[in-house]
Amino acid sequence: MMKTLSSGNCTLSVPAKNSYRMVVLGASRVGKSSIVSRFLTGRFDDQYTPTIEDFHRKVYNIRGDMYQLDILDTSGNHPFPAMRRLSILTGDVFILVFSLDNRESFDEVKRIQKQILEVKSCLKNKTKETADLPMVICGNKNDHSEVYRKVRSDEAEKLVSSDENCAYFEISAKKNTNVDEMFYVLFSMAKLPHEMSPALHRKISVQYGDTFHQKSFRMRRVKEMDAYGMISPFARRPSVNSDLKYIKSKVLREGQAREREKCTIQ
Ligand code: GDP
Ligand code: MG
Repeated sequence: MMKTLSSGNCTLSVPAKNSYRMVVLGASRVGKSSIVSRFLTGRFDDQYTPTIEDFHRKVYNIRGDMYQLDILDTSGNHPFPAMRRLSILTGDVFILVFSLDNRESFDEVKRIQKQILEVKSCLKNKTKETADLPMVICGNKNDHSEVYRKVRSDEAEKLVSSDENCAYFEISAKKNTNVDEMFYVLFSMAKLPHEMSPALHRKISVQYGDTFHQKSFRMRRVKEMDAYGMISPFARRPSVNSDLKYIKSKVLREGQAREREKCTIQ
C-alpha cells in the first residue's frame, strides 16, 4: 500500500511500511515542544507556548527510498483520556519527557510508561513485560544547576533497566545537549534508518519538493551525502477515523488480526 502525501507543490509517495509515528508525551512545561523544535528546525525558543496537540511530518529520501515520520507533540493535560489512548495506539516510537527539577513530572512519566505498555500489549499480543516498544525517557533541563535536581539518575535508569528497547537520557533542549544522541539511539532501537537523526541528513527546503521523491534525487554540491529530509509544510493531524484505520493496517500487517477485537478505545 502506498500513501500519497501532498507536500507543498509536489506529491510524494511513501510505502506504508516506511511510515512511522513518533509520539511525545509528558507533563506540561517539561520541554516536549522544545525537543520537537530541536528535531525539526534545530532551534530553541525561551518563550513558553502551550500546546494543544501539534502534528508535524518529516519526509526523507534515503538512498532513493522514501520514508515518512509523523510527530505527535501532545499537550500534557489530556482532558480527553481516549485521545491519549489513541495517541499511544498509533505510536511506533515514544519519547517520554520529564523535567529534572520537577518530581511530579517524573511520576507522570512513570504513569505514562505503564499506560503505554498496557495499551500496546493488547495490540501486540504480548505481555506487558515483553512488548517491544522503542521508547526513550528524557530527563530534560539538565542545564539547570544540580541544586534544583529533584530526580536522581539512578531512579530514572531503573525505569529502563529491564528493557533493551528503552533508554534513559539526561538532555537539555535549551543547550542542545545529548539531543542528537537521544534520537540516534531511539531510531536504532526502532530499526529505523540512522539517517533520520537530525545530524545525519541534509535538510532540504520545500522548494526542492518536486524532485525530492525521485530515485535519482541528488544535489550536485553534496555528492557524499545521500540522505535528505524535508519538513512537510501542510501536514494535518489525521482524523480519528484515519488513526483507527492506521492502527488496523498496522495490526493486520503484523499478522495479529485476531487480537484486534480486544483493543477498544474507551
Ligand atoms: P512542553 O509544555 O512540555 O511542550 O514544554 P515547552 O517545550 O513548551 O517548554 C516549557 C518551557 O521550558 C519553555 O519556556 C522552554 O523555553 C523551557 N525549556 C524547554 N526545554 C528546556 C531546557 O532544556 N532547559 C531549560 N532551562 N528550559 C527549557
Ligand atoms: Mg508543548
